[in-house]
Amino acid sequence: MTLRLIFILTLFIAFSTIGCNPKLENNTKTTESMKKATYAIAIHGGAGTILKKNMTAEQEAAYLKALNEALSIGEQILKDGGTSTDAVVEAIMHLENSPLFNAGKGAVFTNEGVHELDASIMEGKDLNAGAVGGVTIVKNPILAARAVMEKSEHVMLIGKGANQFAIEQGLDTVSNSYFYTESRWNSLQRVKANQDKSTGMLELVDYKFGTVGCVALDQQGNLAAGTSTGGMTNKKYNRLGDSPIIGSGNYANNKTCAVSATGHGEYFIRYTVAYDISALMEYKGLSLEDAANEVVNKKLVKAGGEGGVIAVDKYGNIAMPFNSEGMYRGFATPTEREVKIYK
Ligand code: ASP
Repeated sequence: MTLRLIFILTLFIAFSTIGCNPKLENNTKTTESMKKATYAIAIHGGAGTILKKNMTAEQEAAYLKALNEALSIGEQILKDGGTSTDAVVEAIMHLENSPLFNAGKGAVFTNEGVHELDASIMEGKDLNAGAVGGVTIVKNPILAARAVMEKSEHVMLIGKGANQFAIEQGLDTVSNSYFYTESRWNSLQRVKANQDKSTGMLELVDYKFGTVGCVALDQQGNLAAGTSTGGMTNKKYNRLGDSPIIGSGNYANNKTCAVSATGHGEYFIRYTVAYDISALMEYKGLSLEDAANEVVNKKLVKAGGEGGVIAVDKYGNIAMPFNSEGMYRGFATPTEREVKIYK
């Protein structure tokens, strides 16, 4: 009897202690906040058939340099307490200004031999977003996307109107030929020569996507994602890919994660890739890594959609899965840093 009483009393004391102890009560929270990085940033410069054997040492060094610079620009902003939006925009601008990537200077050619650029940005705090599609004279399309988000009541502007809006916002404009690079011109000729006449399909062999993107978590706990591209070589009829489509090529939500994609846009649109990763986390409780893998290495692979994503969650965890040969990519947190190209 006495023993049983002591046992019950012990149990009672143990349970009430747990109940009163805020640390134990919030066990998950405490662990989560301990795991939380003060900031995190990841960038990509496109995925595709990127093989070491096809790269000279100089080319490789040039890509690594540009990626490292972009990463450092974004990281410094976050270190200094700046916003994830600023970090994303500045890192992307650096890549847009480099002729190496298919965004801004260095964008691919359309079938008509011109450049039509797409970009988007999203903030996880309040799901604010902005995008431009098919702009032809905006030097840095990511700035136009940001202006749409911050200075207009719309989310997406396209073509002539988007150009006009960028001019009215005082953004730098250039002639379309500013975006020219010899290597992209040669790609267009190669793709045209190999184009399947019967289907009119875009030639994907030897295709290097080259879109750029950045995702970041700032010290205030806000996520942001941005993506910028010239689209796909030989595109026709004002084709838009996934990059300017919120939820497909780009998405951010403070509840879950920020995602920027690169790859065969038609698949990324149909599979709402960026949002799907967030939804798997929100509704199914998957980790960032599992969610991103599920979409990129299972769903997309099954469908035949080539490409990859960079993603960061609200704790600063980073995932960068891709199902192609390579992806120009890098990430930085207060304790880690990595820039890579191949598998
Ligand atoms: N996703 C882009 C598009 O389809 C291409 C890329 O990532 O390089 O327009």
